[in-house]
Amino acid sequence: MVESHILIVDGSAAEAAGLARALAGDGHRVEVAADPAAAAHALRAERAPDLLLLDLAFPHLDTVGLLAGLEGSDRRGLLPVIAIAAEGDADGRVRALRAGADDAVARPCAPAEVAARAAALLRLRAAHQRLREANLELTQRSITDPLTGLFNRRYFEYRLAQELERARRHGDPVALAFLDLDHFKRINDTYGHATGDAVLLAVARVLQEELRRLDVCTRWGGEEFAAILPNTDAAGAMVVSQRVLRALRSHGGLVAPPLGSDAGEVVRFTASMGVAVHEPASSHGAEELLRRADGALYLAKRQGRNRARVATAAPTPTRTPVVRSRPAVA
Ligand code: GH3
Ligand code: MG
Ligand code: MG
Repeated sequence: MVESHILIVDGSAAEAAGLARALAGDGHRVEVAADPAAAAHALRAERAPDLLLLDLAFPHLDTVGLLAGLEGSDRRGLLPVIAIAAEGDADGRVRALRAGADDAVARPCAPAEVAARAAALLRLRAAHQRLREANLELTQRSITDPLTGLFNRRYFEYRLAQELERARRHGDPVALAFLDLDHFKRINDTYGHATGDAVLLAVARVLQEELRRLDVCTRWGGEEFAAILPNTDAAGAMVVSQRVLRALRSHGGLVAPPLGSDAGEVVRFTASMGVAVHEPASSHGAEELLRRADGALYLAKRQGRNRARVATAAPTPTRTPVVRSRPAVA
């Protein structure tokens, strides 16, 4: 059995010793709290107990209040509690269970039975813990791009909405930068898909190195990346974009043989970027920002690739709407 840390909060030293022996016999590490301060200290410790045995008649301790308090706390989900009621105190057991105890026994309690009940609750706790971990991992996976380890588009959309909301509240600009690899199809066609994937990974690493920790760097899909740059204006976003493009240009490239050949050669790559900024006073939303960043990227491609372009500010909705085939870019 895996060693668990069990805290016994018991006013009767003799009974606590009997319980501690039975639990230690099951391979657990047992701590006995002899006064309320020691109990509170043990419950707040960084390595909190895995299970609590709580004497409902513990002197000077509001045990039902303590249970209710634990109920709202973060660690409660992983702290099973067995309440120990006085002999014949059926009401006490009911109150304890209602207040959040997971099990309740009455004195005189047989240590072997309490140890068996503890083992049952610890099994449930372990299952709960495994579920929690699996859930965390699933959440992590659902927002991660498996190839590059960057966040994926689902997370990008969630964060963009959040950042725009935050920016509106604080009056900050938010920049959005799209990056699309140049002639990436040629790389795939010449060197194969695996080399194409290796290039995507190399680009992701460059982005991670060149962006700030607070920037949200994502793989938008295919060979396109998108970054949210909080609290960044157009000039700042262009500085970042130029830095990224410079880093890609000076990247040594990868060595791979063209399809059908054994002779490796250096595969270099460049990208184009489109930037748009959400100004604090703007009433436009995410869709409009994405559209303008995409328009700027389109212009960077059209003007020869391997460059960054920034979109002009969005027109305010109070003006007469101008119908354009593409968003305006500078
Ligand atoms: P441009 O400079 O105009 O962007 O040209 P391009 O060839 O990069 O653009 P295009 O959109 O025509 O081609 C994108 C290519 O990206 C096509 C597709 O085969 C490739 N691609 C998309 N996703 C992946 C991926 O996950 N792995 C690999 N290896 N290739 C991908
Ligand atoms: Mg593309
Ligand atoms: Mg491309």
